[in-house]
Amino acid sequence: RMEDISTPKRTKEIIQRHGFAFKKSLGQNFLIDQNILSKIVGAAELDETKGALEIGPGIGALTQKLAETAGKVTAVEIDQRLIPILKEVLEPYPHIRIVHGDVLKLDLRTLIEAEYAGQSGVSVVANLPYYVTTPIIMKLLEEHLPLENIVVMIQKEVAERMAAAPGGKEYGSLSIAVQYYCEPELVCIVPHTVFIPQPNVDSAVIRLKVRKEPPVAVDDEAFFFDVVQASFAQRRKTISNNLKARFFAKEGREELERLLQEAEILPSRRAETLSLHEFARLSNVLIRAGL
Ligand code: SAM
Repeated sequence: RMEDISTPKRTKEIIQRHGFAFKKSLGQNFLIDQNILSKIVGAAELDETKGALEIGPGIGALTQKLAETAGKVTAVEIDQRLIPILKEVLEPYPHIRIVHGDVLKLDLRTLIEAEYAGQSGVSVVANLPYYVTTPIIMKLLEEHLPLENIVVMIQKEVAERMAAAPGGKEYGSLSIAVQYYCEPELVCIVPHTVFIPQPNVDSAVIRLKVRKEPPVAVDDEAFFFDVVQASFAQRRKTISNNLKARFFAKEGREELERLLQEAEILPSRRAETLSLHEFARLSNVLIRAGL
C-alpha cells in the first residue's frame, strides 16, 4: 500500500518540493482529510469493474483513493503546472490516466467511450472548483453522458439548491434541472478546515444518482427548461405574470389563463411552489397550444 498523498505533511512536502503556488482563480483548495476522502469515494459505489472520471485532481489526493477502489481512473486537470506533479506522485498506479484540459471544452462522450471500454459503469467523482460548479454539472447532465453517479464536493448552498423540494427559497431552476436528470442525496457537510488553503465558504458532498429515464414525460426538453427559466425570472411574481412577460403579448392574456386552467395550475401561484410534474404538465399544455 502506498503512502497517502492527502496527509497535511505529504501535501506540504509535494507542494514545496515543486515550488507550487495555489491559484485562487482556478478554485484550488486541496483536500487533506482521510475521512472526507473515504466518504466521497464510498458514496460513489465503485469496485474494480467500475471507472471513475475525476475533474480537477490537484496533486492527486482523491485520484489516489479512487485508484485504490476503481478499475480505471481518468483525471482531467486544467493547470499545466500540476501535470508533472500528478505524473510523479501517481506513477505507481498504471490504471490512472491524466488528461490536461478544460473539462468544459472536452468532448466527454468520446473520452468516456475511449477510456472505459472495459468497465461496467462510470461515475464522476470530484472535489470541484467552485467557480465553475454549475456549468460543469449542467454539461454532465445535458449531454446525457453514460454516467451512474456524480459524487461531488461543492459549495454547501449550491448542494442545498440542487436537493431542494418545492416551497422553499432554495428551490429553483437548478433544483428542477438536477432532479429531472438525477436523484440527489446530500452525503455530508464539510468544514473548511479539511482544505489547504481553506475556502471561505462551507462545503458539502452530494451524490446525484443519474436516472435511466426522466421522472416526467415532456414533449420537448428545451421548451420545458425554457418554461422553468421564464417562471422563475422574477421569483416574487406569480407564474401567470412571469409567463405573460416571456410568452404572451397583451392580447394573449385570456389564452394564458385558459391554458393554466387546463394544466390545473392557479395563475396566482409562484414558481417556487410548482413540482417537477406540474412544470412538465404546464410545458406540455403550452407547447401543444402552439407556443
Ligand atoms: N481534487 C483535488 C483535491 O481534492 O485535493 C483538487 C480539488 S480543487 C478544489 C479543484 C481542481 O480543479 C484544481 O486542481 C484546479 O486546477 C482544477 N480545475 C479548475 N478549473 C478546471 C477546469 N475547467 N477543468 C479541469 N480542471 C479544473
